[in-house]
Amino acid sequence: GLEARRISAWFGDHQVLEDVDLVMAPGAVTALIGPSGCGKSTFLRILNRMHELVPGASLAGEVLLEGQDIYDPALRPIESRRRIGMVFQKANPFPTMSIYDNVLAGLSLTGKKPRRPNAETDGLVEQSLRSAGLWEEVKTRLASPGASLSGGQQQRLCIARALAVNPDVLLMDEPCSALDPTSTRRVEETIRQIAGEVTVVIVTHNMQQAHRVSDHCAFFLAAEGRPGHIVEQGPTEDIFERPQDQRTNDYVNGRF
Ligand code: ATP
Ligand code: MG
Repeated sequence: GLEARRISAWFGDHQVLEDVDLVMAPGAVTALIGPSGCGKSTFLRILNRMHELVPGASLAGEVLLEGQDIYDPALRPIESRRRIGMVFQKANPFPTMSIYDNVLAGLSLTGKKPRRPNAETDGLVEQSLRSAGLWEEVKTRLASPGASLSGGQQQRLCIARALAVNPDVLLMDEPCSALDPTSTRRVEETIRQIAGEVTVVIVTHNMQQAHRVSDHCAFFLAAEGRPGHIVEQGPTEDIFERPQDQRTNDYVNGRF
């Protein structure tokens, strides 16, 4: 699992997150919800060390992966990025690269990228595409370019690419917001299927989706002069059925 402890974040001297504590239990799906600008994407980027790549960005607190601080100089950034994968709002397969090679594209992170396809890479490509729920749709056209897939298929290809490096954690920032309802369902099924094996953290503005796919839910808010923080978190059922805070209740019921 992954644990954030007292995470605060700044862009220059503008503070955007304050004291965020969140335990993302091993194999669970954690949903991050909250209005635009409350710091959800910033928080995800902190979880895989992308925040430090933003000029002027700074950070306080700790992120523990299986108990180990990912900001510990002893853990190389490339290793934590392999173990913590990310899928973005806009599917970003390499457009002219084949579906097959797209799935393997992340292997350079592992330092053992094979020079040419072989039985082992064939197996890995099939297994990753199966896990992402895409195998049946593409198994006869693995040499086609990534851009030849539909938007929903491209997003599942990106999930397959993220899974191929065998990550412990998969971070997903609004992975379905550009997808039609059918593709969205397919991605949600994929998330439920990889849960258990992989710790999933998903940002979504779709309350039904948060309700359907997550085990744990955290409601972020930046308001009343405070930077982004977690107003309320808990088992998804509790957040949706028995929210303790009026603002959570309003948000999950679309009155915000
Ligand atoms: P949305 O739901 O719209 O995606 P979010 O919750 O993901 O919003 P963030 O993108 O994390 O919000 O942004 C949080 C705050 O940080 C916002 O006020 C935003 O303007 C600011 N911010 C984000 N990235 C940068 C940056 N590179 N430089 C300066 N400010 C930034
Ligand atoms: Mg965002």
